Amino acid sequence: MKTFDFAHADTIDDAVRRGAGGGRYYAGGTNLLDLMKLGVETPLTLVDIGRLDLKSITVTTAGGVLIGAGASNSAVANHRHIRREYPMLAQAILSGATTQIRNMATVGGNLMQRTRCPYFMDTSFTQCNKRIAGSGCAARSGFNREHALFGASTACVAVHPSDMAVALAALDARVHVQGPDGRRAIAITDFFVLPGDHPDRDNVVRAGELITGVELPPSPYATHSWYLKVRDRHSYAFALVSVAAGIHLVDGKIAAAAVALGGVAARPWRVATAERQLIGASPTEGVFGAAADELIAGAEPLAQNGFKIRLARNGVVRALRQATDTLDR
Ligand SMILES: Cc1cc2nc3c(=O)[nH]c(=O)nc-3n(C[C@H](O)[C@H](O)[C@H](O)COP(=O)(O)OP(=O)(O)OC[C@H]3O[C@@H](n4cnc5c(N)ncnc54)[C@H](O)[C@@H]3O)c2cc1C
Ligand code: SF4
Repeated sequence: MKTFDFAHADTIDDAVRRGAGGGRYYAGGTNLLDLMKLGVETPLTLVDIGRLDLKSITVTTAGGVLIGAGASNSAVANHRHIRREYPMLAQAILSGATTQIRNMATVGGNLMQRTRCPYFMDTSFTQCNKRIAGSGCAARSGFNREHALFGASTACVAVHPSDMAVALAALDARVHVQGPDGRRAIAITDFFVLPGDHPDRDNVVRAGELITGVELPPSPYATHSWYLKVRDRHSYAFALVSVAAGIHLVDGKIAAAAVALGGVAARPWRVATAERQLIGASPTEGVFGAAADELIAGAEPLAQNGFKIRLARNGVVRALRQATDTLDR
């Protein structure tokens, strides 16, 4: 590991000033430190944001929740209101990593974590456009069973690894940031970017911007929701495919619903036409299957990951059924 400076930020303004000056935010360190040890990330200055007043989880007057960016993944997943009103979010977080890692990992860091593409994580591979611009993409013709079905480019076929982000996408969360140019809120669906010609960029966060929180709006379908994660091992593994699904029935018909896929693109994958297809229908396997077919219609499999299309289709049907079953509880 290369030498670097380490500074503590005492206030948000102090952090942003240091971030704008080239410092790299250090939250739980569970991803950044690993990447530094591997030589993938080489920041010259780390700005510890662990002392900032960003850990609270507050129910808003509008009926939503404001989660501080410094709240640990465990604190969010175990929060009483979130478990009861946004179960898909609690389930998504608990499906990731381990208790020890979730205790350290923060909400901001979870959104900013980098891809687990093996060619990105291992500097002995010389072809990775995300790591070295213009070097090529080893995964395109190499090991790609875990890679993208949707939204990939010639330059990069990596997926975003966050489980939490998939639930946040289905919940229409907003990410609050503060930077040298002030504050702004970004819809989670606009937060992550597809690789295009610039796979070095994962998201729209600008240099020096600090994520301060994530806002969950009140949602008709959040209470009856489910997170399904399909992976190679039952624990300690990233998603091959995941599904966050929520459903709201009125008089036995679907009045509101959302479905987001994870593990299949550089951002959580939602398709408006698939969700619209559910509205007004009865919650049957046939209706769920038709929506799932619409959701996966644009899939573009690579040499090794075609099996994920069926996983995604079946996962959508199952997650919607599980979400519907919670209505009986
Ligand atoms: C063994 C292992 C298994 C894992 N399994 C899963 C899994 O199954 N599912 C899953 O979703 N995740 C998984 N993770 C990833 C884990 O969730 C992330 O490492 C963690 O959420 C990162 O949070 P952190 O606070 O430690 O971030 P850090 O490592 O401190 O930072 C990560 C990045 O975020 C930036 N950053 C941090 N906070 C902010 C902020 N407030 N504003 C702007 N930038 C910020 C940092 O500069 C850095 O670039 C796993 C990790 C490990 C080590
Ligand atoms: S998929 Fe993206 S991260 Fe993986 S090798 Fe290709 S360019 Fe690098």
